[in-house]
Amino acid sequence: MTRIAIVTGAARGIGAATARRLAADGYAVAVVDLDEAACADTVAAIAEAGGRALAVGADVADEDAVTAAVDRVTAELGAPTVLVNNAGILRDNLLFKMSADDWDAVMNVHLRGAFLMSRAVPRHQVEAGFGRIVNLSSTSALGNRGQANYAAAKAGMQGFTKTLAIELGPFGVTVNAVAPGFIVTDMTRATAERVGVPFDDFVAATAKEIPVGRPGQPDDIAAAVSFFCREDAGFVSGQVLYVAGGPRA
Ligand code: NAP
Repeated sequence: MTRIAIVTGAARGIGAATARRLAADGYAVAVVDLDEAACADTVAAIAEAGGRALAVGADVADEDAVTAAVDRVTAELGAPTVLVNNAGILRDNLLFKMSADDWDAVMNVHLRGAFLMSRAVPRHQVEAGFGRIVNLSSTSALGNRGQANYAAAKAGMQGFTKTLAIELGPFGVTVNAVAPGFIVTDMTRATAERVGVPFDDFVAATAKEIPVGRPGQPDDIAAAVSFFCREDAGFVSGQVLYVAGGPRA
């Protein structure tokens, strides 16, 4: 039986790698992102590798869009039992310069988005008696200068994860979080631009502080998500796995 997975923010970066990995693991994958057209590369890569994927445009912070997206996935791919809440944005600034809009934008995508998606999918998981939800947290949950909004959201993802693990466990649904350290994506490229450092220099300087001596790649995170989604990982729930090349960033 083919299981259906939804990965949000899957047009690029960690989400795209996770979508490709879950497809290789045998899932049919709904590639959800703000712009449906932007999902084409991920869908094509999955198809080229012999997998099955569907591009779905949706803003995860929009209640109606989330309902429509999950309904469309159910109609066109099948009932989703795996959900990866990966969509994310940065609006970094020091607290005294941070606008309320930048606070709200980050809360909306990470927390409201994960809430809306996680509320829409469990009816299918409960029916199947099986489900996996994986939320993307971050080492920034431990505190990071210039990221009061993002750190609060990513710490919030951890409490959200543990609570859903308690509520959904009786229905065969596990809920876990992966907390990446520094991963080479457009998100970290944008951070380098903001601080005015060439990306290669930024990556090299960061890698020096990472115990395994290299920056993370999207596939490193996809592998951790893949583990939590396994059928035989059903006794692992409510956990936060830091994937940072060391104990923390
Ligand atoms: P990325 O390259 O910036 O990709 C994020 C994707 O999410 C983009 O395709 C973006 O679409 C999409 N997105 C943004 N807002 C959305 C919304 N409201 N609805 C649907 N999709 C939306 O980021 P990434 O580095 O792969 O990060 C993925 C996740 O890992 C995020 O939750 C991030 O916070 C977390 N994380 C990343 C790192 C890192 O070092 N990269 C470290 C720790 C945690 P647009 O391009 O249209 O905006």
